[in-house]
Amino acid sequence: METKTKFFWKNFWLRYRLVNGRREDVEGIIIEGACTETTVKFDFIKGWIESGAKTEEFLLQESGKLLCRKPIISWIFYILSGAQEIEVDEWDEYSRFPYEKSWQAKHSLNEIPVVDYLFQAVFQGLVISGVNLEDKFQKSSVFLSHDIDTIHGFTTEFKHLIKSQMFKPLFRLVKKYLQGYDAWNTIQSLMKIEQKFGFKSTFFFLAEHKFYKGVRNADYKLSDPYIQYCLRELNSKKFTVGLHGALNSFRAPEYLKTQLKQLNPPSTIHRFHFLHFQLNRMVLALREAGIKIDCSLGWASACGFRMGTAKPFYLFDHTAKETTEIIEIPFQIMDATLANAKYGNYSPSEAEEVTLGIISQIEKVNGVVGLIWHNNYFSDYSLRPWKTLYIKLLEHFKDKNIQCFDLKDLR
Ligand SMILES: [Zn+2]
Repeated sequence: METKTKFFWKNFWLRYRLVNGRREDVEGIIIEGACTETTVKFDFIKGWIESGAKTEEFLLQESGKLLCRKPIISWIFYILSGAQEIEVDEWDEYSRFPYEKSWQAKHSLNEIPVVDYLFQAVFQGLVISGVNLEDKFQKSSVFLSHDIDTIHGFTTEFKHLIKSQMFKPLFRLVKKYLQGYDAWNTIQSLMKIEQKFGFKSTFFFLAEHKFYKGVRNADYKLSDPYIQYCLRELNSKKFTVGLHGALNSFRAPEYLKTQLKQLNPPSTIHRFHFLHFQLNRMVLALREAGIKIDCSLGWASACGFRMGTAKPFYLFDHTAKETTEIIEIPFQIMDATLANAKYGNYSPSEAEEVTLGIISQIEKVNGVVGLIWHNNYFSDYSLRPWKTLYIKLLEHFKDKNIQCFDLKDLR
């Protein structure tokens, strides 16, 4: 089977379950025209989704076979494997693929999970052909996560409060500091609020505190008593702990492995610090380190669907030209993207609107909302409105009965 076709089916079976029959038989149903070499017609896809994403515009049933009117497998491969990033081969200062260079930016498609509509068309086409399939994504869910980059915010907040002449919170800040709590020691309060709503999140910790080319990794060590305490608490309360891969992790094959070994409890879930994920080089590093789940794919500078999907998928290794066993859980929304002056530069209320807009797009395809909220965006001082927004989002998920994503549901 051709590489693209293999990638397509492996990801198809991650989404859909065959109730009876053999997968090989199903894979033989789609034939003509599914995998021809052609560039993706994004404007066509956009119009197709806007007019109701009708299956027959892609697939026609003819004597027990499905004929493709458009090369749907090639298109899904191009988008979901991230082939554009290899093709464009331009990276920002942190080795990230810039949103501004993407087809999503060019066609204003960053807020539509196009791959999920394309897979849905294939699913429908097969169901019409009499295949007994079940969609594993029966409802939307959420994957909440926190990158722990920095826990020492006292000086930053102190200066901010002096400058803004906010003396009451300043008094509180200093009092707490003298009691041993830093302003950004919010891991416990994050756990508490999520437990209150019945959610469980994933916390990514860095195992590297050294700077890389003048850029900070962690401002803590895993061995620090506060971090050790948090790790024990997270573990005992059944939150997930993952590795936040340091900058430069991919350049030496053993580096990521060494970092992983330092995590206790051990983990095989990972996200690159700074989202420093250059697809053409880093998949190999993840494979060699034995990572099973990665959560790094999304843009830093824009919200939305970098890989065209709101659902987990198997990563493609563009160096080895094969589908990997690593499951990627993409994200669409990050606090810093919304707040940072260089990126979204939204006020918290604008950010709420943008975020709810993306969540509603995800709900249309029963996808997984991927949300990154840093611990310092859950503090009580300069970023307090962002803490409020996070709580509002948790309330929204609770109200809509959106529960936490569980990878086990895809078995
Ligand atoms: Zn980070």
